Amino acid sequence: MAPTLTEPARQTEVYGEYDVVVLGGGPAGMAAAVAAAKSGCSTLLVERYGFLGGMGTAAGVTNFCGLHANVHGEIRRVVHGVATELLERIDRLGGLNTPHALFGKTVAQAYDTAAYKIAADELMTTAGVKLLFHALGAGVVMASRDRISALLVETKSGRRAIVGRAFIDASGDGDLAAWAGVPYEKGDGAGNFLYPSTMFRINGVDPQRAGPAWEVIPGLMLRAEAEGRHRFPRKTPIVRPQKSGIEWRVNLTQLANAQGNALDGTDADELTQAEVLGRRQIAGVAGFLREVPGFERSYIVDIAPQVGIRETRRVRGLYQLTESDVLDCASFEDTIGVNGWPLELHLKGDVEFRWPKIPQSRGFNHLPYRMIVPEGVANLWITGRCASMTHEAQSAARVTGACFVMGQAAGCAAALSLRGATAAADVDTAELQSRLEAQGAWLGHED
Ligand SMILES: Cc1cc2nc3c(=O)[nH]c(=O)nc-3n(C[C@H](O)[C@H](O)[C@H](O)COP(=O)(O)OP(=O)(O)OC[C@H]3O[C@@H](n4cnc5c(N)ncnc54)[C@H](O)[C@@H]3O)c2cc1C
Repeated sequence: MAPTLTEPARQTEVYGEYDVVVLGGGPAGMAAAVAAAKSGCSTLLVERYGFLGGMGTAAGVTNFCGLHANVHGEIRRVVHGVATELLERIDRLGGLNTPHALFGKTVAQAYDTAAYKIAADELMTTAGVKLLFHALGAGVVMASRDRISALLVETKSGRRAIVGRAFIDASGDGDLAAWAGVPYEKGDGAGNFLYPSTMFRINGVDPQRAGPAWEVIPGLMLRAEAEGRHRFPRKTPIVRPQKSGIEWRVNLTQLANAQGNALDGTDADELTQAEVLGRRQIAGVAGFLREVPGFERSYIVDIAPQVGIRETRRVRGLYQLTESDVLDCASFEDTIGVNGWPLELHLKGDVEFRWPKIPQSRGFNHLPYRMIVPEGVANLWITGRCASMTHEAQSAARVTGACFVMGQAAGCAAALSLRGATAAADVDTAELQSRLEAQGAWLGHED
């Protein structure tokens, strides 16, 4: 065990008191904060960076997955509500691509991070959400075993306590839930997380000569490896144009430790290792890309501010979404919206997709309210990629579409619980569903 020292006891200044305190400004946290504020709650969104978007901006994802599903062979937009408001704002800023086809089975939709950041700020301020940037959540104060009374944050002004009536953990890593003592799981039970990747964008591509280069790049990679000119950290490249065809995003790194296991996004040393390794891999991949027709003059225009973390803690809730729920397109009475993305498992050296039957199935599963209600803490919700799911189900419902859905539901549920003085577990799901529909969400009822 590492040596320890005792810090002196301290008095901590209270930053403020809010109905709802949201930790984390990714898709789940943004949707949660907007939903809570629109439900009349004083709402504070705490984010460690100086901008919103979570992995979508900080890790350079630049692409929405899970907003659409293949419903019996027809591509349909299945995530609405707060997501629609954000997309419309990004589009008005000229930063939204039209959806592009993937695997002949579904679509995704790319965006520019700069437009996303501006749109997200505007969305929060218009909804009446108060923002606290550059504040790192660092712990909680419990009123009792099952109630949180304050979130502790470290800021440039010093350590502060944020007193709240309801708390939403949208940290992606389940930080708040872990501090509050809620049990969680990590990886597949044998120490394997979905592998992290560092994303980057290149500029200077000749769009005419490049054409649909994503169709030929996998073959060129195989040839380059066979000829001993390059070695790639993973197969299944994602190399796709952004709105301006001279700029492309690249997702082709995979970050493992010396034993070959995925680096752990909750371990400070492994995160450090991941950042350095990611940039080293990017240098190699960018060199290969300059051999691709149309990419000869390309250069790295941006490396994402942080390593992209797909999976860390999955917090235990009242229901754990499973692989068969996703593949069999499960329905739940307490649906809060849907996931239309397949399993996307980032395994050693490759990415494996597992789909519901297409076109025989409806192509989406309901997300039950119980998966965002943690075990044992009455005034906390867990939302986004740290919600209650198995390792396999998380590989699907961690993408942005489902995170918007879970976030909006958590914000509405927190507001209802405060109004009715009920615990998270006792929120009336029928009332929650009508509140969500009133806010424009689609719950997945096919009629
Ligand atoms: C490399 C990569 C590629 C991906 N590709 C796609 C894709 O193409 N399409 C897609 O839809 N999804 C993709 N995803 C998945 C998706 O981006 C994320 O799973 C999604 O953003 C999760 O949303 P979230 O709100 O749950 O968490 P996050 O996006 O992780 O947001 C959590 C937020 O909380 C903040 N935070 C965390 N801890 C603290 C703390 N202690 N104090 C203060 N703030 C804190 C973080 O800074 C962050 O802003 C990808 C993910 C990765 C890593």
